[in-house]
Amino acid sequence: MSNRLAIVGGKVVTPNAIIEDGVVLCEDAKIKFAGSSKDAEPEPNSLIINARGKTVMPGFIDTHFHGSGGDDVMANGAEGIKRISRALLKFGATGYLATTIAARHEELMRTVEDTITAENDNEPAAAILGLHIEGPYINPKFKGAQPEWGIRDPNFDELNQLLDAAAGRIKIMTIAPELPGALEMIRMLKRAGVEPSVGHSEADYDTALAAIEAGATRATHLFNAMSGVHHRKPGLASAVLNEPGICAEMICDGVHVHPRMVALAWKAKGRDAMTLITDATAAQGVGDGEYTLGDFQIRVRGPLCTLMDGVTIAGSVLTMNRAVSNAIAFAGMSLIDAAHTASMAPAMACGVADRKGSIVTGKDADLAILNSDFSVSHTIRAGAVAYQTGVAV
Ligand SMILES: [Zn+2]
Repeated sequence: MSNRLAIVGGKVVTPNAIIEDGVVLCEDAKIKFAGSSKDAEPEPNSLIINARGKTVMPGFIDTHFHGSGGDDVMANGAEGIKRISRALLKFGATGYLATTIAARHEELMRTVEDTITAENDNEPAAAILGLHIEGPYINPKFKGAQPEWGIRDPNFDELNQLLDAAAGRIKIMTIAPELPGALEMIRMLKRAGVEPSVGHSEADYDTALAAIEAGATRATHLFNAMSGVHHRKPGLASAVLNEPGICAEMICDGVHVHPRMVALAWKAKGRDAMTLITDATAAQGVGDGEYTLGDFQIRVRGPLCTLMDGVTIAGSVLTMNRAVSNAIAFAGMSLIDAAHTASMAPAMACGVADRKGSIVTGKDADLAILNSDFSVSHTIRAGAVAYQTGVAV
C-alpha cells in the first residue's frame, strides 16, 4: 500500500489561514505539504481524497473523555480502551486522554495499567496521549455524577504511586483546591509535569487565586460542578473567567452550559485560555437509551445525558466534531480558533504540540475531513484513512 496520501480541493485550516482549494500531502505518516493547490501536486502513487466542498482540520484531541461506544475507560480493561480508541475516529478525534472518575485507589492504578497496555502506535485508532485523573480529591458537595464513595481528601502516598505507575503519562489532574493539602498537592503536580486543573469545587475567589498561585493552569468544565458567578460572592467560575493564566475546559453541547454563557466565556478567555472537551461517557455515539456509568445508571435523550432522575446531568454524549460546530455557532469562533481550541490547545496540554495539533509541514498527519454540516467524512490517522463515512476500514 502507498504511504502517500493527498487530500485535494478542500478548505484547509492552518494556524494562520484558511486555504480555499487547498491541498494536504502526507507521506510516511507526516504532513509533507499544506497549502494552495496551485503550489503543489500529488506525488505519483498517492491515494487521493477529493475534499471539494469539505473542510480539512487538524484531528481533534479530547483531554476530558471517559468513554464511547458503550465502553468506559475504567470498566472493561485494556480491550475496552482499545475499542474506545477506534470508536473515537468516527468523530474526527485522533487523540485523547483516558479520563478517570473518583474510585478506589486500586481501580485507578488498574486503569493506569490498562491505559498503558492499550497504547496503540500502529493501529488505526485515536492515539492515547495519556491520562486525565479527574478526582478522587474533589469536593463531595460538587460531585456532579461522580460516586461519593470514591471521593476523599488529598492523599500523597496514593498520588505518588499513581505518578510512578503512569511514568509521565498523567497529563492533567482535577483537584478541588479548598481540600486539606490541596494547594501543596497542586505544587507537587506542577513539579511532576502534570497540569493541575481546579474543579468539582466550591472554592471562593481567594482560594482560587491561591490555587493559581500554587500552579493551577486549568479549570475542569468551567461552570459545571463549581461555585459560580455571583457579584457579592464570586466563586471559582468567576476567578476562572477573570484571571489570566488559567485555561477553561468547555463542554460545548448546549446542555451543560447555555450557549450565551459559552459566548461570554469566550469573550473573557479567548483562544489562548479555552479548550473544547466532550466529557463524554460510554453513551457517546450509542444513541438514546439507558446505560451504566461507573456504578450509575444513566439515561440518554438526544444531547441530554442524565442520571435516572432525568434531571442530574451525568457527563455528556458530545462528540468533538459537534463541539467544534457548536463553538462556532454559540460563540462565533472562527474555524482557525475552533481548530486551536479543539486541537492545538489540547496538544499543548498533552505535551505533544511539537508533533500534533495543527496542519503544519512535518507534523503527524492526523486530520479530520468534515462535511459542510460538520459531520465527519474521513479521519486520517498517521497518514492513513482510519475512518470513512459508511466504510468499514
Ligand atoms: Zn469528566
